[in-house]
Amino acid sequence: MFKLLVPMNQMKQFKIDYNYEKIAFDLIDANWAEKVDIYEKRVVHSMKSGDDYDYENYHNLNEINNELKRVSKVFANITRLFSLGQTYEKREIYAIRIAKDYNKKIIVFECGIHAREWISPAVCLYSIKHLLNEQTLLINKYQFLIIPTINPDGYDYTWTGDRFWRKNRQQISEKDCFALETKALSNYLKQIGHKLVAYFAFHSYGQLWTYPYSYTKDKPCIDDHILFKQLSEIATNAIKRTHNKIYTYGDNSDLLYMASGVSNDWVYATFGVKINFGIELRDQGQFNYFLPAPQIKPTSEEMWAAIEAIFKHVSQTDSFATGSTLDDIRKSVDPYVALKDNEERAQYEDFWKLNSYFHGNTDKASDYGAVEEHLKKLETGKGAANRLFYLALPPTVYAATASALHSALMSQTGWNRLIIEKPFGRDSESSNTLSEELSKLFTEDQIYRIDHYLGKEMVQNLLSLRFANRIYEQNWNKDSISNVEILFKEPFGTQ
Ligand SMILES: [Zn+2]
Repeated sequence: MFKLLVPMNQMKQFKIDYNYEKIAFDLIDANWAEKVDIYEKRVVHSMKSGDDYDYENYHNLNEINNELKRVSKVFANITRLFSLGQTYEKREIYAIRIAKDYNKKIIVFECGIHAREWISPAVCLYSIKHLLNEQTLLINKYQFLIIPTINPDGYDYTWTGDRFWRKNRQQISEKDCFALETKALSNYLKQIGHKLVAYFAFHSYGQLWTYPYSYTKDKPCIDDHILFKQLSEIATNAIKRTHNKIYTYGDNSDLLYMASGVSNDWVYATFGVKINFGIELRDQGQFNYFLPAPQIKPTSEEMWAAIEAIFKHVSQTDSFATGSTLDDIRKSVDPYVALKDNEERAQYEDFWKLNSYFHGNTDKASDYGAVEEHLKKLETGKGAANRLFYLALPPTVYAATASALHSALMSQTGWNRLIIEKPFGRDSESSNTLSEELSKLFTEDQIYRIDHYLGKEMVQNLLSLRFANRIYEQNWNKDSISNVEILFKEPFGTQ
């Protein structure tokens, strides 16, 4: 099903043509033009100089940009306004970073990619006001990157040309495969990718809460799919509690339509960001792109209720990341340990005495210093101390973490080794980059690359094959075999 806007004077011909082609159609609204006029008069207003920006009204691009410049001066201590790049028509794509601590993880709001969906930029602007004036607790825990109009050319055109315009204003040409806006956004996200924790892309209309994928009907890996659903349930419940609006959640490709080039897919596939949603804001078609301005505030409020609910849930479940103790860890292990006798119980206690736990952030420089202190205490009086670093981390932060380890935490008395788990990059290019970065810091015999499950059974099978068959004894040995290479081609991803 799709909707068409037909000029009144062509209606007669339209009906003849459609009936002739036997295409079924319904007339949804005969007075659309009149309605648009009324809505437009209601929403479109122009600010006089000296007016305060009205966050409960729609604004043209100039007014939005001026307001961004104003707030970034007023709140200069916690905001930074900058341009992601320029558009086809040479407009700046403004983004505002709101942060008390630049080491914190980043939550991104992407608004206005589709020009005519005016509620989207309005929600982003409202969110800026919310963050700066109402000081939600989230601002102490995270940084925010808010992009109110990622498509300024298109947005401007909906005010000056065609109110229904959706895309940017770049002509499609053979030499430019990507829109400049897409390039600018993805380049910036690559710089901050290792810190991304959440990505929200706001659209309208439909009241849908969607998650990857968009480009395929395939589901993401099962753990992520469960998490997407769980967080969506929490979000849509919070929305309902706020102003009683029903948002439906599901895979983007199921709820909407298959679409390639959706930013949520890219952010999920590139950085593994799991708090990652594409939201079709109000309404369900009554006013569609002409959502009356009085709905800006309630729409924004229900979004914030959803976002706060998600992060409340995340902070409760993410106990390891928010500072558990060695005792907490032991409590989670104990139920799975069966001890036969007192001797084993004593050994088990001795084992725990050997452990210690330090909680910190890989992207916080001072934490490395604190780990060094911690290790020095443990090593005092024990002679040469070896240090082995096992990075159970997302591959995107291997290089940065290895570099920080190398400058702060190398043992001066014993050996140092570094273990990383697969995947070692996304493709051969990123894999080579990673190898280069690591080789600047560690020699090859200090680096251990672990594939934590795939090769294991294969190797065990080789052993039993060799030792169960005496016939191989004469030639399956170091004299006749120089190396064994096992190639395992995965038909699936790196989950
Ligand atoms: Zn859209």
